[in-house]
Amino acid sequence: MDLNSIRQEALDFGFTLAEPIAIDTIHLREEVREMCAVNKCHAYNTNWGCPPACGTIAECQERVNQYECGLIVQTTGQLEDDFDFDTMQETSKQHSKHFVDMLLHLRKEHPELDILPLGTGACITCKKCTYPDAPCRMPDRMSSPMEGYGMVISDVCKDNNILYNHGRGTLTYVACFLFKEVSKA
Ligand code: SF4
Repeated sequence: MDLNSIRQEALDFGFTLAEPIAIDTIHLREEVREMCAVNKCHAYNTNWGCPPACGTIAECQERVNQYECGLIVQTTGQLEDDFDFDTMQETSKQHSKHFVDMLLHLRKEHPELDILPLGTGACITCKKCTYPDAPCRMPDRMSSPMEGYGMVISDVCKDNNILYNHGRGTLTYVACFLFKEVSKA
């Protein structure tokens, strides 16, 4: 399996952009984790994929460094104006669907791949996460948020020459998949 084929699959699943990223450009930051702990998203300490359950920044960085290549995926929506909340919600919904569909597809069709899925928010696979009372119900479907891992998403895009802001009137959601055993050709 090569990264280019996975990239094409991501576009077929509906992402508006899918581009390779180099693992050595991913620098996880304590400051981002501290912002997580403020808990504006109400997910902190509520989910196996989110901090603190996903590990310290050092542990996450060590995990990330074990992967060989990655793919940034984006879903960009075109807003009618700054108050176009319907399109904002719809774009978020579409992006989550693309992410889950792609992950399930990769797990099913390419079981040989070791994948680290990093999404846009907390893992929403189950209606209610088992955290902290019981182990994760579906580890194969679990994902952590990129920011929960400590990534500055705009920096990861910039350091890989990937557009993050697609201009006035657009809204972009970002996720990524990291891989082992994938050829970069
Ligand atoms: S798969 Fe379910 S139990 Fe596991 S982290 Fe996600 S929501 Fe929680």
